[in-house]
Amino acid sequence: MQKFSGLALLRQGLGGHLGWQPQWRNPEPKPAYDVVIVGAGGHGLATAYYLAKEHGIRNVAVLEKGWLGGGNTGRNTTIIRSNYLFDESAALYDHAVKLWEGLTQELNYNIMFSQRGVMMLAHTVHDVQVFKRHVHANRLNGVDNEWLTPEQAKEFCPPLNIAANMRYPILGAALQRRGGTARHDAVAWGYARAADAMGVDIIQNCEVKAIRRNAQGAVEALETSRGTIRAKKVGVVVAGSTSVVMGMAGVRMPLESYPLQALVSEPVKPVFPCVVMSNTIHAYISQSDKGELVIGAGTDAYTSYTQRGGLHITTHTLDAICELFPMFRRMRMLRNWGGIVDVTPDRSPIIGKTPVPGLYVNCGWGTGGFKATPGSGHVFAHTIAKDEPHPIAAPFNLDRFKAGYLIDEAAAAAVAH
Ligand SMILES: Cc1cc2nc3c(=O)[nH]c(=O)nc-3n(C[C@H](O)[C@H](O)[C@H](O)COP(=O)(O)OP(=O)(O)OC[C@H]3O[C@@H](n4cnc5c(N)ncnc54)[C@H](O)[C@@H]3O)c2cc1C
Repeated sequence: MQKFSGLALLRQGLGGHLGWQPQWRNPEPKPAYDVVIVGAGGHGLATAYYLAKEHGIRNVAVLEKGWLGGGNTGRNTTIIRSNYLFDESAALYDHAVKLWEGLTQELNYNIMFSQRGVMMLAHTVHDVQVFKRHVHANRLNGVDNEWLTPEQAKEFCPPLNIAANMRYPILGAALQRRGGTARHDAVAWGYARAADAMGVDIIQNCEVKAIRRNAQGAVEALETSRGTIRAKKVGVVVAGSTSVVMGMAGVRMPLESYPLQALVSEPVKPVFPCVVMSNTIHAYISQSDKGELVIGAGTDAYTSYTQRGGLHITTHTLDAICELFPMFRRMRMLRNWGGIVDVTPDRSPIIGKTPVPGLYVNCGWGTGGFKATPGSGHVFAHTIAKDEPHPIAAPFNLDRFKAGYLIDEAAAAAVAH
């Protein structure tokens, strides 16, 4: 694997940048693998990387129906935080934040992780109570989160409007300073490059169309658009398409798939120093290194697989952004798009074994899974390699919807980005 360093950059610069090698191979699928991961988003690629790196399982393929990172991984607003209410969630998301903190060095790939702080605005007395509860719960779990007055919130984010006569006045904010953003494409590319270097085959334009099971009911092969591929174990990591793919194995999932939209403005000079989220108004915003304001909206009210959502959803979000940050009123929006998010009844993910031997699933991240990418891949690789859940992943099993042990972040926050 070609190493990135200041020296390499200088050498390539002097040579007209003609010496860079392709970052990963483009292999033909082999007839059989020890493990096949379906879905080359960040979570699938991270899973393959940790399977190879930590468990020595290198006869692995990642099958992707489109191009790697072209799903929600390449469509999200990249907010990273771990200030979730329940112990199980705090453990999972903080595991991820700790991995994010060393990921650029680990992958030798600049994922542009920026801990600029995530501030969540409270607009109602209910918000204040809920966020203060989060602050206390997080502190008990060793996760940083602090309460700010409106004036402190404005000091942290000067463009914020804290006037008392707003439709949704700012009554305070919860701030996680270790939260921030990362460059989504770089995360997918970094994991892909590192997994490929350890022998993982990443096979793009390869759609899984059927899952074959043997006489005992265990998974044995995948029928794909590039032929039959046998596998001892299969991990399904396909986000919004999970119900469709798991349906191929006869497993019905407690999921609904919704469009979720984001949009970016024209680029401007650095003006927005942090990430701000408002669950009540349902808007969230940061500024990319290119200078664009990156703005996220809510899910559509109806289920769909269209990868685009209703205009009224983004209009509502922009109304809110203009009220919260009046200086952005004359900004022009450049692009908007949608992704399909897979939402569970308790808004927590599903990571683990399934009723089908040899078939594992990682899904249900809904509107907020980018932040978990390294942690999710790490615990899912363990689960597949050992055929038993990683301790952090264990509470996020599929059976919780039968047993009633929900991890109800839906009731806790109603939003997850
Ligand atoms: C607009 C938007 C904003 C978001 N904002 C945030 C945020 O700020 N912070 C945050 O933490 N999360 C956010 N999310 C959620 C986050 O993007 C996802 O939870 C996360 O990226 C899921 O990653 P993944 O690897 O599981 O899925 P994906 O990246 O979607 O990868 C799944 C892959 O599976 C492939 N696939 C599907 N079916 C098949 C098949 N039959 N055969 C082969 N391949 C198949 C798809 O093509 C896709 O590439 C947002 C999502 C959207 C849409």
